[in-house]
Amino acid sequence: MRAFLLAFVLIGLCASSGFAAAYRLLVLDGHPVKWGESSFGAGASLKYGFVREASKFPNAINCKAMTPVAPMLARSKIAETAFRNEIRIAFDEWEKVANLRFTHVDDPAQADILIGAQAEPSGIAFANVWHAANGDGRIAAITKASICFNPRLPWETSLDGDKATLSFRQIAAHEIGHAIGLDHPGSTGQLMGYRYSEETPGLQAGDVLGAVKLYGAVRPSPNRRP
Ligand SMILES: [Zn+2]
Repeated sequence: MRAFLLAFVLIGLCASSGFAAAYRLLVLDGHPVKWGESSFGAGASLKYGFVREASKFPNAINCKAMTPVAPMLARSKIAETAFRNEIRIAFDEWEKVANLRFTHVDDPAQADILIGAQAEPSGIAFANVWHAANGDGRIAAITKASICFNPRLPWETSLDGDKATLSFRQIAAHEIGHAIGLDHPGSTGQLMGYRYSEETPGLQAGDVLGAVKLYGAVRPSPNRRP
């Protein structure tokens, strides 16, 4: 089986400015990518998990090697439960607006979206997206995604407004956006902008439009929090 994948860079520390369109779909090998059915507006239910041991992904562009998050969290004096709570909140941000469900699984082998620390620290964080072959130019199915954080940087579990410390919640939510099929619409103005900012935390209007385009709007559920 041929491996189709792609990746992109994170929230860069790029100095260029750019007009932030509302959203931009991630286009890999010529077609937009999404989880679930290959039609816009069709929802998806995904599993996420955390790397338990050093793992290599030779056919990835980003996150080629990942390690457990514990040493990274120790450096920033963050408890693993607090970290996992931030990640859950980041998934919730997307789940609250689009027809997406994210469920945590203990076994990383079962995860659609795998989360860990970078074995070779670089940038702030990256995502990698693998997708199935699709030669007709239509939507291609995402088959797996990964998110890796730079363990050398100072992280936080709050949004303290100081960009010297990085918010797991804010950056995880951005990388999850890539993992579900969104690209950078510009530098700022949306969560999916490539420049890190704590000024507008969480999803912005364009981010919501992008997620709804791909997966449809959130559906009422008795189990869903308001
Ligand atoms: Zn990015």
